[in-house]
Amino acid sequence: MSSTVCFHGDVVLPDRILDQGFVVCEKGRITQVSRRAPKGVHAIEGSYITPGYIDLHVHGGEGADYMDGTRDAVRIANRAHLKRGTTTIFPTTTTGSTDELDRMLTACAEVRANWSVEAGARIAGVHYYGPYFAPDKVGCHSVAGCRDPQADEYNRFFGMGLIRIATCAAELPGAEEFYRVARGHGCLVTCGHSNATWAEMARAYAAGMRHVDHFWCAMSSVSSLRERYGTPMQASMEQFVLAHREMSTEVIADGCHLSPELLDFAWRMKGADRLCLVTDANRAVGMPPGRYRFGPSETGSWFESDGRVGFVPNQGLASSVVGLDTMVRTMKSATGASLPEVIRMASLTPARRAGIARSTGSLEAGKRADVLVLNAALEIDRVFVGGSEAPAGS
Ligand SMILES: [Zn+2]
Ligand SMILES: [Zn+2]
Repeated sequence: MSSTVCFHGDVVLPDRILDQGFVVCEKGRITQVSRRAPKGVHAIEGSYITPGYIDLHVHGGEGADYMDGTRDAVRIANRAHLKRGTTTIFPTTTTGSTDELDRMLTACAEVRANWSVEAGARIAGVHYYGPYFAPDKVGCHSVAGCRDPQADEYNRFFGMGLIRIATCAAELPGAEEFYRVARGHGCLVTCGHSNATWAEMARAYAAGMRHVDHFWCAMSSVSSLRERYGTPMQASMEQFVLAHREMSTEVIADGCHLSPELLDFAWRMKGADRLCLVTDANRAVGMPPGRYRFGPSETGSWFESDGRVGFVPNQGLASSVVGLDTMVRTMKSATGASLPEVIRMASLTPARRAGIARSTGSLEAGKRADVLVLNAALEIDRVFVGGSEAPAGS
């Protein structure tokens, strides 16, 4: 890592492309982005040079789910996503027992403390996602592991200093207190797996909630609220997010969850500064079609993968089985967003929302050398984290 690393190609900056530019990195940091070739340094060539991707919402990959709760599982999943372009990752909990959550958080803390590029994507923090889901919006997750927010449980977990993103369904008793505590710990506060009304979202917003998980998936709509409250029909999470500029959200752009029109609509409504690309990927990433558990290896609920997407037969989708590289390509072809905007939705925007944009998220001097070399089809050629290259075939 002591030596200089230099990249040459069309450099994707947050707001434009620097044609045939050079990105120079020294001691793990970006030192220069310009059209000037540094003297005496061999440049790594690519069609595009982009920042490493950042995934705010991801459950596992290549056979491992973070909720398996072992260091090995964490490293397997982090390596699976690193080679698909994710250099910074937020391992995401799901529904489970307090002990299962404890093991997951402990394993992530240990891997983070002893990180090297062989351990895969760098953990910036944990997304505390389950278990505070609304029972009628629990989706593919285990209902048994779902509950109302418990202050003694989450206070202890927040106290570990690892959680950077925190989800809770807004209509649950105790949700506002959870949001205030999460905000106090500097988290991006999000509402998901929820059937909340506009009024419940407004109270959540006042308590610090600013983001909604996987837009259109496991969230309220006008018609789901009509089932709950009858008429007059109520505004839902969807209207709340679209009406509030400060609210951000995320899409699972694998081409299976949302149609191209919905992806384009989300980008047009929220813009590249408030829309994040996430994988929400499960352990079936890079695995053959078959039956897998979502969440802990012993107690998680079953789903199937056909190699394109996860699903529960006769019930619905069960999150994605691909990496952020696929999301970027899908978003580029499905929407009118420019390449800098698409890349921003997978890098600088999630970095800003999670509060880590000072150290990563774009190709700017001073930031960590988290850099991707892409071919003309936006496929991953090479991946660098902090200036160190991900081992080939890792
Ligand atoms: Zn979900
Ligand atoms: Zn999820």
